[in-house]
Amino acid sequence: MPEMPKSNIIWSNGENLPWDDAKIHVLSHVVHYGSSVFEGIRCYDTKRGPAVFRLEDHIKRLYDSAKIYRMEIPYPQQEFMDAVLATIRANDLKSCYIRPIVFRGYGSLGVDPMSCPVDSVIAVWEWGEYLGADALEKGVSVGISSWNRMAPNTIPALAKAGGNYLNSQLVRIEANQNGFDEGIVLGVDGLVSEGSGENIFVIKNEQIYTPASHYGILPGITRHSAITLARDLGMRVEQRGIPREFLYIADEVFFTGTAAEISPITKIDHLQIGDGKRGPITEKIQKLFFDVVTGEVEDPHGWLTPVY
Ligand code: PMP
Repeated sequence: MPEMPKSNIIWSNGENLPWDDAKIHVLSHVVHYGSSVFEGIRCYDTKRGPAVFRLEDHIKRLYDSAKIYRMEIPYPQQEFMDAVLATIRANDLKSCYIRPIVFRGYGSLGVDPMSCPVDSVIAVWEWGEYLGADALEKGVSVGISSWNRMAPNTIPALAKAGGNYLNSQLVRIEANQNGFDEGIVLGVDGLVSEGSGENIFVIKNEQIYTPASHYGILPGITRHSAITLARDLGMRVEQRGIPREFLYIADEVFFTGTAAEISPITKIDHLQIGDGKRGPITEKIQKLFFDVVTGEVEDPHGWLTPVY
């Protein structure tokens, strides 16, 4: 396993700490009960310098996730956004992955977390393609998981919380052990939900579909970007229920996610999707996405926040 590339500074409760000193106690609530909410954000090296993609939307989602779990983040959202930008500057990075995390810290180990402190951390580091170097062009091979996504009213899927990723881990471990790059997980109703860390889009007869937000998905910010860019290109995206077998007979399928960006899926359960290559509609949306995030074209939706 490649080691995580270290950067210099981690922001922790308002302080800049050296990377190796950003530690917590083993009896912190989060270690035992998964009580954290977090974000994954990317900073791109654009033509006009480093810029964070959809910073405000990610921080809003972080505060929404915290609200669901009744965690009070002791900073206004603007201050948290400023801290993200300052942390990138402190590490002198041009492009990076950004991981803000807010968690229940060291206090008590009862299940009720309300007496534990709420700690906030921001780490940034260099991170390339999530699903492999060729994924963006050649596409990935995925399998439908034997695991289901969390049922409604169990673990809230709309919160990006640490504990949710126990489900994602089972999906990803199984997929990798079966030789797939990633897994697709179905909801308890048997309909398509998402990948272990990505949303999914399906194209058939030039119509684009994606599971609606009540199918146990995380409402991805890249998903929203892809829907918006498809509309900019004059295409419609229908959000609805998608049966598993609809994936098999699709013309194109792709994943969206901050880490995965826009990655074509060329095989599902060993069946070739379309002609087995990145499809033309996927390519169009993917190209526009990368043109926007790298500043090649105007930023029509104001999605980029300059770091300097
Ligand atoms: N679903 C899950 C379960 C995820 O972890 C992610 C990554 N945050 C996504 C979807 C995609 O969301 P986003 O585009 O906001 O990164």
